[in-house]
Amino acid sequence: MKNQIIFNRTSVLSLTLFISIFFISCAKNKSTETYFESMNTFMKVQAYGEHAEEANDAAQKYIGQLEKIISVTKPESDIYKLNNTDSYPVEINDQTLDLIKIALNMSEISDGAFNPCLYPVSSTWGFTKKQYRIPDASEIKEKLALCDWRKVRIEGKNVYMDKGMQFDLGGIGKGFAGDEAAKKMMEFGVKSAMLDLGGNIQLIGAKPDRSAWNIGIRNPLDKNSIAGILKAKNCAIITSAGYERYFEGPDGHKYIHIFDGNTGCPVENNLLSTTAIAASGTYCDGLSTAMYVLGLEKSIELWKKQKDFDFIIITNENIVYITKGIAKNFQLNADTGFTVQIIK
Ligand code: AMP
Ligand code: MG
Repeated sequence: MKNQIIFNRTSVLSLTLFISIFFISCAKNKSTETYFESMNTFMKVQAYGEHAEEANDAAQKYIGQLEKIISVTKPESDIYKLNNTDSYPVEINDQTLDLIKIALNMSEISDGAFNPCLYPVSSTWGFTKKQYRIPDASEIKEKLALCDWRKVRIEGKNVYMDKGMQFDLGGIGKGFAGDEAAKKMMEFGVKSAMLDLGGNIQLIGAKPDRSAWNIGIRNPLDKNSIAGILKAKNCAIITSAGYERYFEGPDGHKYIHIFDGNTGCPVENNLLSTTAIAASGTYCDGLSTAMYVLGLEKSIELWKKQKDFDFIIITNENIVYITKGIAKNFQLNADTGFTVQIIK
């Protein structure tokens, strides 16, 4: 009888323990998805854990606030103020300043391929208002003279540049948003999350079962299929591509939204997409744009020089170039007919 009572107590205790562990692990693996629109694109954040919902809300709120200060079109933004004044310096807030410094550093690293001051050129081609046109050579030359990123000077919180110069952080802003929103989510104890900011991916940790996330790399020739799957944890995966935004001229020629700062014209090369993979989203975003401008050979040189990122570059010869660091984690979609070449 005594034994029977002890047995029952043990059973109750075990059951209670089991239920507690079950609920704790449910809370840990609780996932919430939040969808919203920001920075002119659709975004989805998906956190796991007890405070997943609050973490998602904090990420969304943060990205909304960031957009307000770095937008080129919102009159209250730092960038708008910088771009539309006659008198310098302009004092801007710390976050915008940080991002401008990182962007200019990316220009240094990429020998100007990444240029955050190309707004006079891209707007004259009509990309900002979607009123596309092909400017003549003299107009391009005139606008290009206003795009010298080396003329930007920062002293404390003050930014100085020449009259007529204009910033555009569109090539790096979403990556920065991913980095900073991920930090906000981690403040809620989130150890596992995926942020999809218009196709730019920022990962916190691994999936709750500790396995890697499977990230589809879009097939640039078919929006409904993937070129392959990359297994990844705790990093950013960011793609630049001609298919994202472009217009067709009267001659049927395709003009894309990524500009070459040497010519003042949309980039034309054999690339279809460039994807950068590294810890920082800001870095990857800058790199993916820079690589698109640089082309394959110079991107390989940049990779060899920097040694701190991986890439996936797809060319119009249907070759997927991947760096050796991710070779084991990339699975080609055989249906595409693409072939893989590993860069060592
Ligand atoms: P992404 O999709 O990250 O490659 O960014 C492309 C956007 O960056 C464009 O829509 C422009 O706003 C801006 N951009 C265009 N060309 C460049 C360039 N060479 N360097 C930096 N930003 C650029
Ligand atoms: Mg970019």
